[in-house]
Amino acid sequence: MSDDRRDELASALATARERVADAERAAGRTEGDVTLLVVTKFFPASDVEHLIDLGVREFGESREPEAGRKIAQVRADRPDVVFDADMIGRLQRKKARSISRWAKRVHSVDSLDLVEALGGAAQRSLDDGERTDPLGVLLQVSLDGDPERGGLVEADLRGVAERVAAHSGALRLDGLMVIAPLETDPEEAMAQAAGIRERFVADHPGARELSAGMSGDLEQAIAHGSTCVRVGTAIMGARPLLSP
Ligand SMILES: *Cc1c(COP(=O)(O)O)cnc(C)c1O
Repeated sequence: MSDDRRDELASALATARERVADAERAAGRTEGDVTLLVVTKFFPASDVEHLIDLGVREFGESREPEAGRKIAQVRADRPDVVFDADMIGRLQRKKARSISRWAKRVHSVDSLDLVEALGGAAQRSLDDGERTDPLGVLLQVSLDGDPERGGLVEADLRGVAERVAAHSGALRLDGLMVIAPLETDPEEAMAQAAGIRERFVADHPGARELSAGMSGDLEQAIAHGSTCVRVGTAIMGARPLLSP
């Protein structure tokens, strides 16, 4: 049973890696430029361990406390393996402390309140020896201004980035994250994201990451400069319907 699952994951992972490499080539980018973050939310620790055995070292999770428990389990089961996990989904301030214990980066920062909560939480985790590096922050940009789906409008990026900088030591501004709006042509959405990113990097040259692209639109995202694609379904299979 479990070997079947490993074979299934191995084959889907190989296909996803090829898609990323093909897109890098098509965009004239260096192979390996783009990080493939495997999104394992809703899937068990055993799947994460299969993926580790297949060479994956970067994971995305989006639900706390499920994520924290799963990561702790995998770290206990694979004590010799160093891997990273990022928080990619919307989060509440009260989850900041638990996330600061396991996440390398948070992709979904979209408010001043959340920056303050994460800054305080990351500092406490550093003080308590629960982490050794600052927590990476990507500001989530809303491409359509829909508050339901989260994200900052471009005009608000500067103010929030300043607050991240005020927590230097605890937080590190890495860049931006986008989710293409459902009704928009992904090509258009990613072109829009690229423009916002170019203007943002002009002000924040150290924050060049662009987390963009998922199972359905990673090619368009890579064509427009994504540095990190977050791929769930194409590797893991369909999630239960209650997906966030
Ligand atoms: C679940 C999720 C993904 C993965 O989406 P797929 O379409 O399954 O690849 C990417 N980004 C975020 C923020 C997610 O919550």
